[in-house]
Amino acid sequence: MDPRVQQFMAMIKARNPGENEFHQAVQEVAESLIPFIEENPKYKHAKILERIAEPERTIIFRVPWLDDKGEVQINRGFRIEMNSAIGPYKGGLRLHPTVNLGILKFLAFEQVFKNSLTTLPMGGGKGGSDFDPKGKSDNEVMRFCQSFMSELFRHIGADTDVPAGDIGVGGREIGFLFGQYKRLKNEFTGVLTGKGIEWGGSLIRPEATGYGATYFAQEMLSTRGDNLKGKVVSISGSGNVAQFATEKVVELGGKVVTSSDSNGFIYDPKGIDFDKLQFIMELKNVRRGRIKEFADKYGVEYFEGKRPWIIKCDIAMPCATQNEINEEEAKLLVKNGCNCVSEGSNMPATPEAVEVFLKAQILYGPGKAANAGGVATSGLEMTQNSMRLPWSREEVDEKLHTIMKNIHKTCVKYGTKENGFINYVDGANIGGFVKVANAMIAQGVV
Ligand code: NDP
Repeated sequence: MDPRVQQFMAMIKARNPGENEFHQAVQEVAESLIPFIEENPKYKHAKILERIAEPERTIIFRVPWLDDKGEVQINRGFRIEMNSAIGPYKGGLRLHPTVNLGILKFLAFEQVFKNSLTTLPMGGGKGGSDFDPKGKSDNEVMRFCQSFMSELFRHIGADTDVPAGDIGVGGREIGFLFGQYKRLKNEFTGVLTGKGIEWGGSLIRPEATGYGATYFAQEMLSTRGDNLKGKVVSISGSGNVAQFATEKVVELGGKVVTSSDSNGFIYDPKGIDFDKLQFIMELKNVRRGRIKEFADKYGVEYFEGKRPWIIKCDIAMPCATQNEINEEEAKLLVKNGCNCVSEGSNMPATPEAVEVFLKAQILYGPGKAANAGGVATSGLEMTQNSMRLPWSREEVDEKLHTIMKNIHKTCVKYGTKENGFINYVDGANIGGFVKVANAMIAQGVV
């Protein structure tokens, strides 16, 4: 490792002990940025990298709620307000039992660069709780959300901090959170994104992350004169991002052969068509069942406790969670002929897996670029809320598509190496950094 990165990481680890995912995210960015900062000393003198890795504010709070048996349950709530140099804090809320400070700090840190890449005026934040919505009744989820918002409301606002969904937070949860915010503040504002279409939401917001990651794959492929037609695509996850990535890939002529959840994955060699996708959507969004039921219904293979990367594919789109592709899986993907990875989830590849992709010089689009379509469309939802004027489906999709193309251009600008290889990791990190860093310098030492 570059000794300058090593020294910087020693400081980060000492200040943030035990926060492994945060260390991982910061190190990846530091590896791209430290050489760039050496060439641009104004960033060094202003200690931008050191400042950007320290949250502006961290809020941790108790979330007590009553379950259906009348028993008191206690969870922990978080909001990390990471950086507001270019706009209000913006980033999702995650409800999952694995949630802790380190995971949310990694996500908030990534969000700063991602939001900057979208070119929209949004700072970075992230939040959530170790509450597990799985197996809870709608009433329990509502009571939890109301309790969570009873503290969070005093820290957020349409011009301050605008949360959205993430793992475990979809339309149902955003509805409960918004209802409670409105009740407490007595105001109807765009304080959350991902809202229902009848009450301030944007068309295409649910689709945006998956669609955007597919558009990004398309842009990467086009640099090699290729496209999605006839490509075999492996997708992990079966939640929001995975569902709409599947939809867009199929629409653009690709064949999606896998779908997964935290218990295992299904392999459908004939491809998941729109009818089968409808089944997954109903299974996951309405009945809240397990992906194994897909295998039972369509008579395809189910791999318990496994991830889809053992299946031969041309393109891989991880859309479940962090660190879901390890070194061996990355090697297997490359060996099996996969030449494009577009990340729907955040930090799905371990550092070793990233190394494998970069060494093989395949098209590797990291999450902070490839999945930025979600937050970009949240930004578009904020604009529509401010104007009090909704845009049509076509208008929003076109804007999303243009934003993804521009993010790709930024990555090419900052990530193209002497031999012509586009290192999208460097491209996204440096491209996302410059705007935030310049704003921080302009705003003084704050
Ligand atoms: P959902 O909760 O809708 O779906 C998550 C999916 O991933 C589910 O299939 C879930 O399976 C699976 N999953 C979650 N945790 C794990 C785990 N630890 N191991 C294996 N599988 C797991 O979330 P989203 O689709 O919204 O988010 C997926 C990823 O995309 C996350 O990394 C998120 O940060 C990222 N992302 C989301 C955006 C959005 O707009 N929603 C925007 C940008 C990034 P199960 O049901 O069994 O838990």
